[in-house]
Amino acid sequence: MRVLLLYPRFPKSFWSFEKTLALVDCQALLPPLGLITVAAIFPQEWDYQLVDRNIEEVTDEQWEWAELVVLSGMIVQKDDLLAGIKEAKVRGKAVAVGGPYATSLPDEVEEADYLILDEGEITVPLFLEALARGETQGKFRSEEKADVTQTPVPRYDLLKLDAYDNMSVQFSRGCPFQCEFCDIIVLYGRKPRTKSPQQLIAELEYIYNLGWQKGVFIVDDNFIGNKRNVKLLLKELKVWMEEKNYPFTFDTEASVDLAKDPELLELMVDSGFKKVFLGIETPDESSLALTQKFQNTRNPLTDSVDTITKAGLQVMAGFIIGFDGEKAGAGDRIVRFVEQTGIPMAMFSMLQALPNTALWHRLEKEGRLLNQEGNINQTTLINFVPTRPIEEIAREYVDSFWRLYDPEVYLDRVFNYFMKLGIPRYYRKRRMDSKSIVALLTICWRQGVVRSTRWKFWYNLSQVVKRSPRLLTSYFIVCSYLEHFTEYRQIVRDKINAQLAAHIATSKEKEEVSKITVNNKVA
Ligand code: SF4
Repeated sequence: MRVLLLYPRFPKSFWSFEKTLALVDCQALLPPLGLITVAAIFPQEWDYQLVDRNIEEVTDEQWEWAELVVLSGMIVQKDDLLAGIKEAKVRGKAVAVGGPYATSLPDEVEEADYLILDEGEITVPLFLEALARGETQGKFRSEEKADVTQTPVPRYDLLKLDAYDNMSVQFSRGCPFQCEFCDIIVLYGRKPRTKSPQQLIAELEYIYNLGWQKGVFIVDDNFIGNKRNVKLLLKELKVWMEEKNYPFTFDTEASVDLAKDPELLELMVDSGFKKVFLGIETPDESSLALTQKFQNTRNPLTDSVDTITKAGLQVMAGFIIGFDGEKAGAGDRIVRFVEQTGIPMAMFSMLQALPNTALWHRLEKEGRLLNQEGNINQTTLINFVPTRPIEEIAREYVDSFWRLYDPEVYLDRVFNYFMKLGIPRYYRKRRMDSKSIVALLTICWRQGVVRSTRWKFWYNLSQVVKRSPRLLTSYFIVCSYLEHFTEYRQIVRDKINAQLAAHIATSKEKEEVSKITVNNKVA
């Protein structure tokens, strides 16, 4: 069987970083880990070609060659994924679709012949059996969760490695917490399942042998969901990293309770972890309690961020506006929190009800869901009726986003943050390649000569050189993200303002119609 694995394009988002990636000649931040895992579960005697539409187009020869087209993606990729299914069908190909979007909203991908939903380790074998029986369509589902210790090493060899800024690996699935808006616990359950340390290290060894020597993103939604197993991994990973002379740096996502475990923090830093994404969501305790994010209410959040920072891990964090019962000024309170903690990369979004989450079901019961199609991303208006005016929330969102990524404010925040960031004990001094030198000079030119940030840029830089020279490369990388955020804050403002104007116009129209109806009844 000749299989074309097709990864749909992402729209511009907080994480797309096109401008920053272009500086280092990369086309995408991360590779399609789901598809290369599926390729490892499929029969190995089949032939595979992978096309990531974020880095290249599918050629006519590839369409011709394929007997089966397999697509997988997240909700944000839905437009391109649906277009891919259509194109494959027009070309007369058999189409299989899987991944989080298809699993959450299978009705939207029914044009595909085979729906391989839920976890591939369980449903791919069901698909293969159906194929062997000669079935030309089918939907394969399973409520059972996969034993990830049996997951094979993903087919990293199918990737064009040079196109990516980071590699991805997965250690665990699932999270023990129960945040009301979270779809991870719906897709992967609340009992974290982990790979064995040897298994993950075999994956790292594989990408190392393919020549990878840059960042690795551990894609787990909560890397520390099973603290016991993660410590077992880190103890072995630390030794492996030392033996290999620190070929990678690691980034991941974790819950805020990381701050309460000094041993875990130390193990992460010693194993080469650089950045960790925390779902802080909001400094408003009442919203955290309402959304059942109790783990964020147990310790002051500012202390938790400071503890992690001082240990030597850069904190990135997610913030959300639009919770039920939220008081006016939530945007200001988030901006104040970000300024106080100094978190450079604060991902800010309006709350969205994702399909099948506890929030989705509650709002459905209350008759408050507006958009049931799942066309949801950071630049779409809230998809339900909030408890305070949508106009107020949207304006606070746009205004706060704009202020957070004001170039001078951002550079100051990065600088202040790096002044308190702990310095890693172990790190590998790398020689700069020509791409990095060009990127560095471009940043110096844009932020230090062309723009009004010039004085701040050079002053801050001189202080980092004097006070924390070992953090200089990381500091530069975080400064370079400004190239993306300056563009993205404009996209957020334009798109939200346009939807808000349309929403206001529709509301006025509805008001007029109801006034006319009332007047007619009175007459
Ligand atoms: S901590 Fe994160 S992954 Fe876990 S339930 Fe909450 S939002 Fe989901």
